Amino acid sequence: MTDKLYYEDGYLSSVIARVVDVRKSGIILDRTVFYPEGGGQPGDRGSFGPYRIVDTVKDEDGNPLHIIEGDKPPVGFEAELSLDWEHRLFYMTEHSAQHLVSALLFSNHHIGTVAVHQGESFFTIETNIGEIEESILLETEAEANAAIRENHSIVQREMSHEEAENLGMRRSIKVEGRVKVVFIDGIDAVACGGVHLKSTGEIGEIQYVGSEKIRGHVRTIWKCGKLSVDYRHRNRAIVQDLSSLLSSDSDNLIQSAERLVDDNAELRRTVRNLERKIAVFEIEKHKCSNSPIVFSSDVDIVAFEDVFDEDDSIVAFVVDGNGRFMFHGTKEGFDSLKSGLSIKGGGRGMLYRGSVSGNVDTVLEEARKLLNG
Ligand SMILES: [Zn+2]
Repeated sequence: MTDKLYYEDGYLSSVIARVVDVRKSGIILDRTVFYPEGGGQPGDRGSFGPYRIVDTVKDEDGNPLHIIEGDKPPVGFEAELSLDWEHRLFYMTEHSAQHLVSALLFSNHHIGTVAVHQGESFFTIETNIGEIEESILLETEAEANAAIRENHSIVQREMSHEEAENLGMRRSIKVEGRVKVVFIDGIDAVACGGVHLKSTGEIGEIQYVGSEKIRGHVRTIWKCGKLSVDYRHRNRAIVQDLSSLLSSDSDNLIQSAERLVDDNAELRRTVRNLERKIAVFEIEKHKCSNSPIVFSSDVDIVAFEDVFDEDDSIVAFVVDGNGRFMFHGTKEGFDSLKSGLSIKGGGRGMLYRGSVSGNVDTVLEEARKLLNG
């Protein structure tokens, strides 16, 4: 059994350790400071003498298995085991922030936590309910930041199962035997085998980012520490850029954007009407005899689709600048186009559309031949 030093002290970043077993994907050590993946938190990485540890997971007996790519050291090999501290501190901060937010959701808003995940750009808390008002999550954010400013100590204490049960914690105890209980002074007590900061102040700040529905529950998304600061800065820059683009102060940004969207919709309607007029005009211009109309147009092909009356028997093949075509005619006519052109698409009745590949002039010349033939 490996001596799990991280269990007692999340701040131990290195130790001299010895290989006691070599497995297919990694090594088991006599002692370790590496936390194995669990509880929504990724496993630690770092170095063991000249070897690089890319991940740490639990083996079937719960021992940390240090994953090493390539050659592994032999049993008995002794070296300094050293954490990628930045990686550890990042996830330890997210994990501690998650404890704090889950505690506040539970004690102040009667919302339980059913699952958590610590990711590289945010952490999530899946709650036990299907609807949460946004204002409650913003209140929780404010409460969490107040707790950070108050700098509550975070301490962990090992105790008997019975003693832990008597604490009446917000989450049931998942392990047998002795239990490690993590206390956020004055706020929370919960059984957890993870690694934690020493005080809430170290989290820096917490920000509510959004929520989504999963398995009928609300999953809330949060950022903490530097990620939260960066997110604030980026959002501020976006508001500034948008304000400058729309020549608007931030208070009137939404109205300015709404106006822009409305203006854009109006312009699109105008363009569609004009394109349809051009399409009608172009069809008329090419309609000189009883022979099929074949031409290319700068107008979006969609404009040609509704210029024909239902009982119109005109045969027309039009290609636009994007290689899209419209064919008005019978199925036999369309089949004959398909036989000689590289066409993707289809249709029914008298209207067919899709894309055609090849040089436009060649396509038009071939279409004329096929339709006249
Ligand atoms: Zn924990």
